[in-house]
Amino acid sequence: MTLTLGQIADWIHAEGDFDEDAKVVGYSIDSRTIGAGELFFAVRGERVDGHDYVGAALANGAAAAVVSMRWLRPETVDEKRLLRVPESESDCVLHSMQELAHRVRRAWGGRVIGVTGSAGKTTTKECVAAVLGARFNVLKTEGNYNNHFGVPLTLLRLQPEHEVAVLEMGMNHAGEIRALARIAEPEWGVVSNVAPVHLEFFPEGIEGIARAKYELVESLPADGLAILNADDERVAAFARGMGERAISYGTNERARVRGVVIEELGLAGTQCVVKAGGEACGLRLQLPGQHNVLNALAGIACGVTSGMELAACCAALEAMRPTSKRGDVVEWRGARVINDTYNSNPRALESMVEALKKTPATRRIVVAGEMLELGPQAEALHRSCGEAMTGIDAVVGVRGLARHLVEGALSKGVKAEFVETPEAAGEWLRENVREGDVVLLKASRGVRLERALEALGGE
Ligand code: ADP
Repeated sequence: MTLTLGQIADWIHAEGDFDEDAKVVGYSIDSRTIGAGELFFAVRGERVDGHDYVGAALANGAAAAVVSMRWLRPETVDEKRLLRVPESESDCVLHSMQELAHRVRRAWGGRVIGVTGSAGKTTTKECVAAVLGARFNVLKTEGNYNNHFGVPLTLLRLQPEHEVAVLEMGMNHAGEIRALARIAEPEWGVVSNVAPVHLEFFPEGIEGIARAKYELVESLPADGLAILNADDERVAAFARGMGERAISYGTNERARVRGVVIEELGLAGTQCVVKAGGEACGLRLQLPGQHNVLNALAGIACGVTSGMELAACCAALEAMRPTSKRGDVVEWRGARVINDTYNSNPRALESMVEALKKTPATRRIVVAGEMLELGPQAEALHRSCGEAMTGIDAVVGVRGLARHLVEGALSKGVKAEFVETPEAAGEWLRENVREGDVVLLKASRGVRLERALEALGGE
């Protein structure tokens, strides 16, 4: 939102000799990409301190910089382009950015939809934005800008003409979603699922994770709506006491917005019928795997609740394609490689393997990297994913716990091999993949399994 420096300073209690009437046309924390007329926030990240880049940001055309004099070396910059914020906290510049985002959100006054969950946040957010985008002017989180930096930066992109903002909200610790909700004040909250990720920060286990996701529902206003995955028992339980304000989606009979799978089309997607409000509509989803059916249903639930026709919601989703590293297909020497290396979890891996089994191919190969942050069940979960590989022609387990996945596959008579690194997996593929094969690459982000693909080169 375009604001004057005077207005901004008033909202964040900043001082300085700046030109009160100067207009700010955008907001940034990166001096390298900052645009002319934007406001630079000198936030202190884990590795770098924005105060070291104030001079660079101003040289690159920033209108001004928000700083704490405690951290700034004053000789380096033009005093007349500084907004000095009170020095009460070590991350006071970040706090100011969050406060400004909150003020902008209030001044804008439209509907914010928060999206959270252990897995599928980005895809769910994309589905919600795709559906609502067919009817409304939607602002959405870019990429996974879903934390205490990304959420305020997204809100600061709000323009008066936006009608809805769809914001992804991530967390690693209890209290983080509540803090993001305080900034963004969502009226609607979408929760995709509760799964054992980031368990190391939740000594009470998965129930602690559920509690942390519930913070989004708790933060909704009295007339706010919770859009909840009815296929996930912990998420479904969030509806308790909400009555009509809870909108459930899923594949089971209780769901208000229900998807019935008619045919799995392998990696090409799923053919479903969606039922909502007494109507039914066909949906040919081109996103692979059954987990994406749920992500799509979340979008439809938001659409019909916004007054859209069911058919219009389905049409918007049919146009969606997998995004980078989330199931996009790369051709290599006449084989198709499914790059699903962005992340993994047992449920999504099994769902993608089922999709692979239904995909026409000479041979089907799974390269499965280890799945991180699964807590005490990790070994058993890897093993059972391996046991579910029957019907796959070859399995390569990559790194650490994937060893147990390989053992599980071998125990079912599936050809399987373990390698230590993504590069070694790339070598394996180079030697073994033939024309007509379909290869699924899937692993937790930390494994960086895309390096296997890079090792193949672009032949
Ligand atoms: P997030 O933003 O939560 O990391 P993404 O939408 O980026 O989630 O998806 C990351 C990976 O999570 C996907 O490649 C897929 O394997 C898995 N995933 C996506 N949607 C779901 C879902 N609804 N349930 C379980 N896993 C999912």
